[in-house]
Amino acid sequence: MLRGTQRVNEKGHLTIGGVDTVDLVKQYGSPLYVYDVQHIRDQAKAFQSAFSKYPSLTWHAAYASKAFSSIAMVQLANDLGLSLDVVSGGELFTAMKAGFPAKSIQFHGNNKTIDELDYALNVNIGTIIVDNFYEIECLEYLCKERQKPVNILLRITPGVEAHTHDYIMTGQEDSKFGFSLVNGAAEEAVKQVMNSTYLQFRGLHCHIGSQIFDTEGFKLAINNIYKYLSKWKKELDFSCEVLNVGGGFGIKYNNDDQPLPISTYIDAIVTTVMAESDAHQMPIPEIWIEPGRVIVGEAGTTLYKLGSSKTIPGIRKYVSVDGGMADNLRPALYQAKYEAVLANKASAKDTEVVTIAGKCCESGDILIHDAKIPKSESGDILAVLCTGAYGYSMANHYNRLPKPAVVFVENGESKLVIQRETYEDLIRFDCSYSQEPTH
Ligand SMILES: *Cc1c(COP(=O)(O)O)cnc(C)c1O
Repeated sequence: MLRGTQRVNEKGHLTIGGVDTVDLVKQYGSPLYVYDVQHIRDQAKAFQSAFSKYPSLTWHAAYASKAFSSIAMVQLANDLGLSLDVVSGGELFTAMKAGFPAKSIQFHGNNKTIDELDYALNVNIGTIIVDNFYEIECLEYLCKERQKPVNILLRITPGVEAHTHDYIMTGQEDSKFGFSLVNGAAEEAVKQVMNSTYLQFRGLHCHIGSQIFDTEGFKLAINNIYKYLSKWKKELDFSCEVLNVGGGFGIKYNNDDQPLPISTYIDAIVTTVMAESDAHQMPIPEIWIEPGRVIVGEAGTTLYKLGSSKTIPGIRKYVSVDGGMADNLRPALYQAKYEAVLANKASAKDTEVVTIAGKCCESGDILIHDAKIPKSESGDILAVLCTGAYGYSMANHYNRLPKPAVVFVENGESKLVIQRETYEDLIRFDCSYSQEPTH
């Protein structure tokens, strides 16, 4: 059940990166997000070694920063040789403040505002992944105004469903994202951007879903794309320099999840692209991918303190933590399943089945149903595992809970990378309505 550098020390405490999690809570408080930096490095390296089997190939792996965006994380991604995906002006701003090279940033989104596009062009962003006709118009206008070109990919929906949860399925025909291959929108977009003076059309992008556990979806998407690439080569003389097949590589939240090794996904993607290019007598394009969850998901752990508990005879026992849906929205949003360890009693036997409840005023604020943990008491520290992706990044202020701190741990040392919010932070943007302000 333990991941990366997680171990149990002689005190029976969970350690991460050689740091005792009980000490972490003493030092930084709770709830606390903890990232195992070595684990993040290992995930990035797994992509490098998977691609290194194909020395003639040009490839890029972009960290999808929506999974967890912060200055420290973006800097780490840069150190690890990843390029970067952003999906908003805020994520782009974070990347710029982190010193990330703009030329290695790709900008995504189905409704980038004029201001966001303007900002991206001002910083000389590497690539804009164009989602729709309105965006083509906006970019034409903005680029013309400043007489400056921009590299673009077109996001297409390849009409493929990856096995995943409905809410996070984005590759099928009925999607708010991208140009449909099947209904002709993609072809119309290709014609438009091929004729553009300012939009430097480099290729196509697709993202077929998230938490994907097989290679079939990627292969089918690539097969479908090549049907059109072959047509467009003949009819439009279009050649695709870059094929970006997105992210979505699955991770193991619990035993129901059976992700494949990273190299298995990459082998399937690369060999399918190579075979299709060969079959259609096209040069092999650069292959770009965009892993988010698989880079940071398993590396993240949330530490909570246990408080109240409630036993309903014959029904269940609730054990409450000092956080919940404000710091981890995924169980409430996607019925996501997590595992937990009692961090200060990590070598004790699991003897109880309890429901781990959050502290928010919502009956649906349950982090884990039927968690198996040792006998617990208030003050114990609960580690919920695998919270590194879409945890802090989806955190919110529901019930006016301040957002927790985030620490990186590695080689026996911890480093604060995001401060804990205070009550003062919560009211920073509030304006008083009464004549005599009370605060
Ligand atoms: C969310 C997203 C990703 C990353 O997805 P993961 O499941 O976290 O790997 C990559 N590309 C696009 C376009 C996305 O929207």
